[in-house]
Amino acid sequence: MIEFDVEKIHIPLKQHVGGPCQAIVNVGDHVKRGQLVAVPAGLGANIHASLSGVVEEITEMDIVVKLDKEQTDDYVRLEKTDDYLQKIKDAGIVGVGGAGFPTGIKFSTQIPGGYLIANAAECEPILGHNVKFMEEQPEVLVRGMKYIMELTGAKEGYIAIKTKYRKALLALGKACKDEPNISIKILPNMYPAGDERVIVRETLGVILQPGQLPLEANAIISNVETIKHVVNAIEEDKPLIDKDLTVGGRVQNPSIFLDVPIGLPISVFIERAGGYINPHGEIVRGGPFTGRPAKEDEPINKTTGGLLVAMPYPQEKEKVGILICECGAQEERLRQIADGMGAEVVSVQMCKRMKPDKNGRLRCELPGICPGQAEKVLKMKKDGAKAVIAGTCQD
Ligand code: SF4
Repeated sequence: MIEFDVEKIHIPLKQHVGGPCQAIVNVGDHVKRGQLVAVPAGLGANIHASLSGVVEEITEMDIVVKLDKEQTDDYVRLEKTDDYLQKIKDAGIVGVGGAGFPTGIKFSTQIPGGYLIANAAECEPILGHNVKFMEEQPEVLVRGMKYIMELTGAKEGYIAIKTKYRKALLALGKACKDEPNISIKILPNMYPAGDERVIVRETLGVILQPGQLPLEANAIISNVETIKHVVNAIEEDKPLIDKDLTVGGRVQNPSIFLDVPIGLPISVFIERAGGYINPHGEIVRGGPFTGRPAKEDEPINKTTGGLLVAMPYPQEKEKVGILICECGAQEERLRQIADGMGAEVVSVQMCKRMKPDKNGRLRCELPGICPGQAEKVLKMKKDGAKAVIAGTCQD
């Protein structure tokens, strides 16, 4: 287990799509690593203690556990059952790539004759934990895909990956050489290659409209780390208590950590990565395109993939325009960045490919096939902008 020097952890009660879970333990209870501590009140997924200790406090947002001095990698096993879907639900697995949708619900959908696609795009720059997992344990991904294909009735399994991950590609090629129904599909080296509609377009040749799900193409897409947790649940009776993580940016030793306990504070991982390079700016939880600012004492959760330390904001006290892309930073985040720079936002534009879907949400018509943005930049200039802060992924 990773070394850490903290006395307590905060286990968040909301680590998924849906409302917070309800705690089923009480203050003063001793909980063991792997023990079920909270259950969904509606849409959601079970939550287990990731380390052992005594429950010190329960709030609306989290369970605070004062840690035992001795911790081990061992954990309380899930109940035995041959029902794999039940095992996935019991384990509290959600889409750990960021979506947080309960995996037990996703894989209860039947797609006879359809496609299971493992999202191996490792889409956000700097992040590398999915690639490391595939390099080191490709056979785990293949086994997981076979379980999920059995559950959903999918006839073909595709691993969608970029050619730049050469070592992982070679490892995966070996791992699926005797699997007639599992093969590798190449994604373009661009952001947002991991967008579900891009993956469907590049692997199946089907163009999904904004708001349409992969199911319209008889496909289910799952992030590779999520599939790893499915294997852990089915083969090892292990609940989702550990997480893979990339720590990068302005730290001394950018690092990838596999299987670290959920609930540990961000500061532990900055320290394990050698500490900050000074001067440094904010910590970003997630990737450079879609990440959010975070604080050192916040816990990592089921959907935390990256902890990136930024450079200090340049102080450009210009009038700026912000340019929004559906797959990149949104208006709120771009305004935060402008604020950090001390810049005044005088114009807000969005990529012309963003159109409202049937629910009125603005979606990109053709993710990754990006137009020039000259027209938008000229509009900003007319509005008085002297510089542009762009959340777009191309151009
Ligand atoms: S087309 Fe526009 S909205 Fe879509 S991914 Fe490209 S820049 Fe973003």
